[in-house]
Amino acid sequence: MSEAAAERSIVSELLESRRAQMFPKLTAAQLARLERHGAARATTAGEVLLDVGAEPRGIFVVVAGSVEILLPFASDVRSKACEFALLTVLAPGDFSGELSTLRGASGLARLRVREPGSVLELSLEGLRRVVQNDSELSDLFMRAFILRRMGILESGLSDVIVVGSSRAGDTLRIREFLTRNGRPYVNLDVDRDADARALLERFQLAPGEIPIVICRGGEVLKNPDNRGLADCLGINARRDDDVVHDFVVIGAGPAGLAAAVYAASEGLDTCVVEAFGPGGQAGTSSKIENYLGFPTGISGAALAGRAFSQAQKFGAQVNVAWEAKRLRCDAWPYTVETSTGRPVHARTVLIASGAQYRALDLENLPHFLGSGVYYAATHLEARLCDGEEVIVVGGGNSAGQAAVFLAGYCAHVHILVRAAGLAESMSSYLISRIESTPGISLHVRTRITALEGAGHLERVTWTSGDGSSESHELRHVFLMLGALPNTRWLDGCVALDTPGFVKTGPDLSAEELERWALSRGPYLLETSVPGVFAAGDARAGSVKRIAAAVGEGSGVVQFAHRALRELAERSPRDLRLS
Ligand SMILES: Cc1cc2nc3c(=O)[nH]c(=O)nc-3n(C[C@H](O)[C@H](O)[C@H](O)COP(=O)(O)OP(=O)(O)OC[C@H]3O[C@@H](n4cnc5c(N)ncnc54)[C@H](O)[C@@H]3O)c2cc1C
Repeated sequence: MSEAAAERSIVSELLESRRAQMFPKLTAAQLARLERHGAARATTAGEVLLDVGAEPRGIFVVVAGSVEILLPFASDVRSKACEFALLTVLAPGDFSGELSTLRGASGLARLRVREPGSVLELSLEGLRRVVQNDSELSDLFMRAFILRRMGILESGLSDVIVVGSSRAGDTLRIREFLTRNGRPYVNLDVDRDADARALLERFQLAPGEIPIVICRGGEVLKNPDNRGLADCLGINARRDDDVVHDFVVIGAGPAGLAAAVYAASEGLDTCVVEAFGPGGQAGTSSKIENYLGFPTGISGAALAGRAFSQAQKFGAQVNVAWEAKRLRCDAWPYTVETSTGRPVHARTVLIASGAQYRALDLENLPHFLGSGVYYAATHLEARLCDGEEVIVVGGGNSAGQAAVFLAGYCAHVHILVRAAGLAESMSSYLISRIESTPGISLHVRTRITALEGAGHLERVTWTSGDGSSESHELRHVFLMLGALPNTRWLDGCVALDTPGFVKTGPDLSAEELERWALSRGPYLLETSVPGVFAAGDARAGSVKRIAAAVGEGSGVVQFAHRALRELAERSPRDLRLS
């Protein structure tokens, strides 16, 4: 990797508008408060204080001299050459660090001493103590860290290159994984980019071997899985597998992140296990308009990013690309077996693994989520398609209700079902309503076979049982195919309802509580196993909404505190359930 520091105008332009907040100068009083959490040391010119991808070391506050922040970027993708761009020079009173610092993950930048002097070095623990206890410095650090990460993402500078085709599912997965985890990357599309094809030729890679990821300007990963990517980029902090955490959360959607924020802020040793990246279903929404406190809406990515930073501020450990494979609840403390082969031990567990809406088997469907394809038919969506023709896919009651409701707003509603009719899947009262509502037509043995549009959905093709297809200029499709809970990994550990959602509190029957080991009954969000809770979309009877998931996730923490006390008072032997 070349060390030539290239001044790039894009970096300085980016900094101009936000420099004051991205790189605030500490006052003498703030510096004095930090001194008790760190250690001073001398620096020499050219010394690298921290390198890209190196073990995390907390932050450096410049006391005398100056320190360069250098961002790596792929300067010539054909040769994998990588150089460094100068982001800024830290002078006395300035400090290093960005979001990965707080997380304890490996960093995205190189810190190199320009003029010798001295720095105050704060360890990760020291930094966490400050952001948790000093509200003035906490605001200053958190704002700077978030803006710096946003700045790095917006700069487009990265030493990570993804080479693939936009038509390939794995390329989309890799890009989404990096985006959802806030990682900058350079995207090369083999269908459009001559550089991409040249790169494949140079490294003698066959088209069948794409997507590839050139990680940190060096290692070439062929169609890596999410874990391979996370490992190569050092996204997760190091963890000690022997630790028994107070509270282990499975899933970093709204429910899991809310629980992590409350639990960690209330002093519980909290660990989150997330199969993909923070945000869950909400993270895929382009604009959430009904979440309290955001009158002009907020994107799912922004909401997830804020919640994720907040959880880390309070010290929750979040492991992404870790999938829970099994919950061992036959002995306490409980153990979560994961896709990494490494266990996570827990005194209490929150199941917040959410649900997945049944979708259509169309590769470009994700492009239209929120831009013509919806999983809900509320007033919000109805307003979007006011006076237009729409499609409702599905033959269940939710599809029937949606069709009748939308008929009041839209020019025409087409119901598409694969079956020969609705009688077997929909209540008769809804069928009668559909039949008596003008402006609804039913298309049986019919399925959508293509979605088209640049940005927003513009055209839909459907195919009937006889093989004939027709295309229509339709801009709105409502998928009412039901949700599937992400609970297979529970493998008989806790009681589930028929579709597989986790039963909690008063919904549990005496039969389901036969092996219940405590004298009290289960708390409101507690499952059939003491100290194992469920919140959000994975829970039976939950309202499938962000605010509801956040409410349940935060509310569950008070029950976890009580369960921790009760379980600790009993010997592990008493709690053996089998
Ligand atoms: C496109 C879209 C738009 C939406 N828009 C809105 C809206 O505008 N307003 C609104 O109120 N609601 C909206 N919703 C619904 C809302 O997003 C969900 O109700 C909410 O996200 C549920 O939160 P959750 O945390 O319970 O589960 P999820 O969001 O489903 O998160 C679960 C998390 O668990 C992880 N996970 C799953 N299995 C495992 C495992 N075995 N191990 C580890 N991790 C696992 C998943 O990767 C995921 O990150 C929308 C949903 C979608 C799909």
